[in-house]
Amino acid sequence: MPKFEYAPAPESRAIVDLASSYGLFINGELVDGTGSSFKTINPATEEHLADIAEASAADVDAAVRAARAAQTRVWGRMSGAERGKYLFRIARIMQERSRELAVLETLDNGKPIKESRDVDVPTAAAHFFYHAGWADKLEYAGLGTSPRPLGVVGQVIPWNFPLLMLAWKIAPALATGNTVVLKPAETTPLTALLFAEICQQADLPPGVVNIVTGAGETGRALVEHPDVDKIAFTGSTEVGKAIARSIAGTRKRATLELGGKAANIVFEDAAVDQAVEGIVNGIFFNQGHVCCAGSRLLVQESVADEVVRRLERRMKTLRVGDPMDKNTDVGAINSKAQLQRITELVDAGEAEGATRWTAPCELPTRGFWFAPTVFTDVSQAHRVATEEIFGPVLSVLTFRTPQEAVAKANNTPYGLSAGIWTEKGSRILWMADQLKAGVVWANTFNRFDPTSPFGGYKESGYGREGGRHGLEAYLQTGEGA
Ligand code: NAP
Ligand code: MG
Repeated sequence: MPKFEYAPAPESRAIVDLASSYGLFINGELVDGTGSSFKTINPATEEHLADIAEASAADVDAAVRAARAAQTRVWGRMSGAERGKYLFRIARIMQERSRELAVLETLDNGKPIKESRDVDVPTAAAHFFYHAGWADKLEYAGLGTSPRPLGVVGQVIPWNFPLLMLAWKIAPALATGNTVVLKPAETTPLTALLFAEICQQADLPPGVVNIVTGAGETGRALVEHPDVDKIAFTGSTEVGKAIARSIAGTRKRATLELGGKAANIVFEDAAVDQAVEGIVNGIFFNQGHVCCAGSRLLVQESVADEVVRRLERRMKTLRVGDPMDKNTDVGAINSKAQLQRITELVDAGEAEGATRWTAPCELPTRGFWFAPTVFTDVSQAHRVATEEIFGPVLSVLTFRTPQEAVAKANNTPYGLSAGIWTEKGSRILWMADQLKAGVVWANTFNRFDPTSPFGGYKESGYGREGGRHGLEAYLQTGEGA
């Protein structure tokens, strides 16, 4: 298949108005904070974008106090219909400023502009629209007749979908009458700070949303703050476990959305070209920086060679490079540290005897890059089959029977998602029943919708986000309500 040469089509960055430094968003204002600062860079070029305030424990305390005051005096007393108006307003402003948000996300994160523009930003706005609609209908959500907010929620998010994870966290919390203190990831704070401006533009009462930028220590200060009622965390299983230990024995509730090592399972009767597109979307979307990525391909032995051959042919057509180019499929790895982790695991895959194939492509000389890669001859014990790589690297295993596919798919400490490719409806239902995964996609992959609950089993965490189930995580329900 020839690869068409397209002329470069870079999106303009003129729409983004970058400041040289940013403060913390506390009680409705951007303030300096009392800690030091750190830099955020563009991982595609290593360009220094801005200096960001690092929130100290005292700053986190000020943010929690602001959130508490806003919750008890204003937000918790407001009618659901009024709260809904604010959420609708935020959603509309996100749509109006969508191009600005998309460009800023791509600059700070390294993801292709077509993904930030067509997936991240519209889905983030959709989360606000969806939850705006729930704000005045909580009594009808099947969670008791008078569900009440928990109070102040501390939220900590990762760098792979910075604005979208913010929306997953903030929209349901606000719709249910809680106020929040959110810590974005260290490498991707900029869209959260633009969101702070959107909160001001929407006239959101001060203190309802507070944003404290910083690294792990800032996150820890938020998690350990005694006046936080609930922690909502998305990130690695390691940090998730540390958070669970640190809040054990306190009144704090928690939802933890952690890592994954999803099986994408292709049967011999599947439509092969569609399956190949699903495999590509499953592992190369967002450079594979996706907790629910289809990172283990399980393919039926009778079609394994053909599927891998067609997959490699398709991978040769992926455009890797400038994330701001509208034709780019695979952008930059988010950080040097993440690139090192990917490289280490890929080296381990080769050392352990799996066969590596990497798509031929020219990588930029500056920035952090990793070419799309597939491992075949993978055994279940290999590190590339057991550990989350969180990069554009796929491990291929084979199976003969549906029972074997289920056993291999479930042979992981994780349980976030899975995919099934087959023409047979009864097999889809049987498989979905057997797979220990929070989300199971059939003949598609990586589809997200605010109405659909998302979350894991086992070491992928607990609690659900999105849909009616997601509301429950932010409410006191039943007798105690
Ligand atoms: P991470 O190290 O766990 O970081 C996640 C967030 O926690 C960041 O904001 C981080 O700050 C902060 N943090 C670090 N140490 C902390 C501590 N001791 N206490 C409180 N907060 C702390 O994860 P990551 O490497 O950035 O993200 C990749 C991981 O997230 C992958 O394993 C992926 O599977 C998982 N993930 C899961 C989902 C899901 O929905 N299940 C979604 C996306 C990602 P810094 O930025 O400063 O490190
Ligand atoms: Mg950055």
